[in-house]
Amino acid sequence: MGMRMQAIAPTLLALAVVAVLLILALRRAARRRKRKDVPIPRVEGFLVSTPLHPRMLRACVFDRGLLYGRGFRRKEGPALPHGPDCQCRATPIALPGTEVFSGSLRRGNEVACAVPGFPADACRPLLDALRRVNAESVPPTLDAYLALADLASFAAGHQAPVRRFLEERYRFLKAQPGGHVPAPAGPERPQGAA
Ligand SMILES: [Zn+2]
Repeated sequence: MGMRMQAIAPTLLALAVVAVLLILALRRAARRRKRKDVPIPRVEGFLVSTPLHPRMLRACVFDRGLLYGRGFRRKEGPALPHGPDCQCRATPIALPGTEVFSGSLRRGNEVACAVPGFPADACRPLLDALRRVNAESVPPTLDAYLALADLASFAAGHQAPVRRFLEERYRFLKAQPGGHVPAPAGPERPQGAA
């Protein structure tokens, strides 16, 4: 009997070691599976979008691309429309949080232009230019306005349509009372501010 136990003991020990290793491996695999199942949090809210057009209000220029809602720091969106000729729309969005926090939000945020035949590649730089020149007072001359917009920085093939856009915008801005671009009070502006 004792002789037999002596022969079996190493085999039992080896089996026990194998069993423990197997259990550990299975546990690790289960833990890994669980980690993979954790859903990426989705951020829900709204995106303000508008095509660019020469009669945009300042608020339209600056609110374009604004994200707000439950998942964002800013909870309330602007009251739309901003005013006459406003084409802004608030579109519901739901994105993986990673996309928002990495700042790589692209979907639905492409800049488009409402002017027929306007080159699509020129829309993003045009928006940058509109933001640059959209100060509260309008420059006294068209040339000063075009210089502020840095028309010369646009690609050679884009300069003619961009110039036409900016000329029409300048006429629109000059026609505003007092030469000021109307900026309707938004929710983020302090109450009672002039
Ligand atoms: Zn608007």
